[in-house]
Amino acid sequence: MAVLTRKVKGAEDILPRDSYKWQFVEDIMRKEAECHGYKEIRTPVFEHTVLFNRSVGETTDVVQKEMYTFDTKGGESITLRPEGTAGAARAYLEHALYNDGLPVKVYYMLTCYRYEKAQAGRQREFHQFGMEAYGSADARADAEMICAASSIFERLGLKEKIKLEINSIGCPTCRKKYSDALKTYFGEHKESLCDTCLSRLDRNPMRILDCKSEICKGIAQNAPTVLDYICEDCAAHFEQVKGYLDCAGIEYTVNPTIVRGLDYYTRTVFEFVTDCIGAQGTVCGGGRYDGLIEELGGQPTPSLGFAMGLERLLMVLRANGTELPGEPVCDIYIAALGDAANKKAFTLIQELRSASFRADGDLVGRGLRAQMKYANKIGAKYSVVIGDDDLSANKAMLKNMESGEQTEMPLDGGFLEKFISLYVENEQKRMIAES
Ligand code: ATP
Ligand code: MG
Repeated sequence: MAVLTRKVKGAEDILPRDSYKWQFVEDIMRKEAECHGYKEIRTPVFEHTVLFNRSVGETTDVVQKEMYTFDTKGGESITLRPEGTAGAARAYLEHALYNDGLPVKVYYMLTCYRYEKAQAGRQREFHQFGMEAYGSADARADAEMICAASSIFERLGLKEKIKLEINSIGCPTCRKKYSDALKTYFGEHKESLCDTCLSRLDRNPMRILDCKSEICKGIAQNAPTVLDYICEDCAAHFEQVKGYLDCAGIEYTVNPTIVRGLDYYTRTVFEFVTDCIGAQGTVCGGGRYDGLIEELGGQPTPSLGFAMGLERLLMVLRANGTELPGEPVCDIYIAALGDAANKKAFTLIQELRSASFRADGDLVGRGLRAQMKYANKIGAKYSVVIGDDDLSANKAMLKNMESGEQTEMPLDGGFLEKFISLYVENEQKRMIAES
């Protein structure tokens, strides 16, 4: 296929026939975030590269291998965002959002870019929905955020398909001890580790637990467990988080191997995972990042967040056979033939649209039969045909495309009013029939 009509590898089109599914899911996410007191933040697609180096972490896969980084003509290093947390934290500091009163709660819906090996559930351009809260160290904030994510899955009917796993990776103090224990343990298995993990051994041994290679995974199975190393405060916090999740009736399992791929996490980390979409089974990941805001130059500000991948979530919905409602249809199609009839139809269509109906008419010069065929194809609920005779009589027949019922409509004023009352009456009948 010619390059002109071929998309770039790892990027996907969302076609008109599918976009309603995205809108449906996005709508649920927005509503859920807003129910929890979060407001939307929109940040730029690109940021200064150093922001990601600093916040995501120099030793992470994202920074080492996956970023789309380039120099501008002015010689600045810019990176397409690989995730949403860094940009939101930067904006929080740049615009002093802490003056709005803590905690500051934001959510986002954005495209991210990572240079990864493209495969099912792993793209180079993908979409994330995320929530972030700044300025609360309280375990209720952790639980609230987990509840919000969980509730999104529940609203989509995926409670049984997507399971919550939680862990605590402690604070920098207790993590130091754990890091040392891991160095000793993995040091004894040096000859079997993959090259990437060998380089992780000194700099960031916890990352080895996140390795996707089967051999490293096998070795990691018997590695020391972080929960045996966390300090009293971190352990107490973790107990509180679990307690609040119990209050909310959220089921979880504690999985001590969850460490998350990004460097900024502290204490609570969690993932929502599924086994119904293949190897890329993590739909949502998040946790606390109590040190990040300070790392970026702000006051110490305990914070937390999560991000979920929309592609993976839609894959779960597909695997589950979930039918999503809301494919847009056409309320009324007005077919017309001839100059005068076209003008009448055009006027009526504009009037209907001003009243927020999804109204449509011919734009390509089809004959009447072909126009009606098209009206059927787009799923119009009603149709009207305006020919010369109808024009001179100032009347036309409105057809209910589902029932076949016909109603005479005036063309010299009063069309809209009559259509509204018919439409409302039929919607009511339909709702009663459905209930
Ligand atoms: P993974 O272990 O799958 O590489 P990650 O730890 O890199 O995930 P995060 O940075 O935590 O993922 O991103 C949060 C969510 O964003 C993931 O759980 C996933 O749903 C989605 N995601 C991450 N990378 C991709 C990608 N390349 N393509 C599609 N979705 C992605
Ligand atoms: Mg990744």
